[in-house]
Amino acid sequence: MDMRDGPERMFLSAATVAEAVAARRAGAAVLAGGTWTMRDPRRGVSLPESVVALSRIAELQRVEVLDGEIRIGASVTHAALAGALSGLAGFEGLAAAATGAANPAIRRVATVGGNLCAIDFAAADLVPALLALDAGIELALADGPRLLPISDFLRERSELLKTALLTRVIIRRDVAASAHVRLPLRKAGDYPVAIVSIAQSTDGAIRVAVGSVEPVARRWSALEAELAGKALTPEEAQALAEKTNDFIGRDGIEAEGWYRREVLPALVRRAFAALQKGGAA
Ligand SMILES: Cc1cc2nc3c(=O)[nH]c(=O)nc-3n(C[C@H](O)[C@H](O)[C@H](O)COP(=O)(O)OP(=O)(O)OC[C@H]3O[C@@H](n4cnc5c(N)ncnc54)[C@H](O)[C@@H]3O)c2cc1C
Repeated sequence: MDMRDGPERMFLSAATVAEAVAARRAGAAVLAGGTWTMRDPRRGVSLPESVVALSRIAELQRVEVLDGEIRIGASVTHAALAGALSGLAGFEGLAAAATGAANPAIRRVATVGGNLCAIDFAAADLVPALLALDAGIELALADGPRLLPISDFLRERSELLKTALLTRVIIRRDVAASAHVRLPLRKAGDYPVAIVSIAQSTDGAIRVAVGSVEPVARRWSALEAELAGKALTPEEAQALAEKTNDFIGRDGIEAEGWYRREVLPALVRRAFAALQKGGAA
């Protein structure tokens, strides 16, 4: 373990997951790409006193494409993820989320783990894309590893992330096509004000997830129930989205809640059109 400390802050560069977990237990915050953390002071949040960096842990930087599943290490950057998923049938939506977020400089350092663990960040792109893929989230805790569905992780993450390290994201390869549609606004610093991610599994079932509208991304269960077993045009899907729109939009300086909610049916139409063309957006 490489450790440097100044009069006030402590920086540890862990060589293994076990070292990082021990540092977390001792109260260190994780430093991944730092693109979210570096803006803490602007948000009125104090920078952590003690951090553990993950950049020396090679196993967290791997994307493994296996026959039955894809395993993505927490330290994989958006750019590396986009590269690894390029041309992989079914994963167009996640690839589009990794390619469309932020800007090239940020994408080269911002990680998958950082996107999932930035608790107060409603506009995270990878989160709805991974919800639509029904991903599993692997954590390392002091008492061992734990794998949980992404919906459970999102519900419990404030508590879990007091001590846990997110190590990997695991996605089953039973997806036929997926799409990720975002509405960025220049005045929002190009952050998406609303996101719709959809994925169709090989058995035809469609999962829909929405990001940036409410404080935490979630599945659109009422729409999924209406879509079940139907072959629809994008316009028909939009009409069902209007009927089942149960989102309560969050107000923010970049967009008001009613607007975020109202744009969702049009984003569903665009996502369906992309899905029917073979994915992406
Ligand atoms: C100019 C700009 C534009 C942006 N645009 C977008 C955008 O369009 N879409 C988007 O989704 N995001 C955007 N972001 C936000 C941000 O870059 C991403 O959310 C990014 O993925 C954060 O990753 P990171 O590796 O930099 O995380 P960090 O800043 O290192 O960490 C973020 C948080 O997660 C915790 N953490 C990180 N890794 C782990 C882990 N493995 N286990 C436990 N906790 C962990 C950290 O302790 C911290 O609390 C933008 C950021 C900037 C600066």
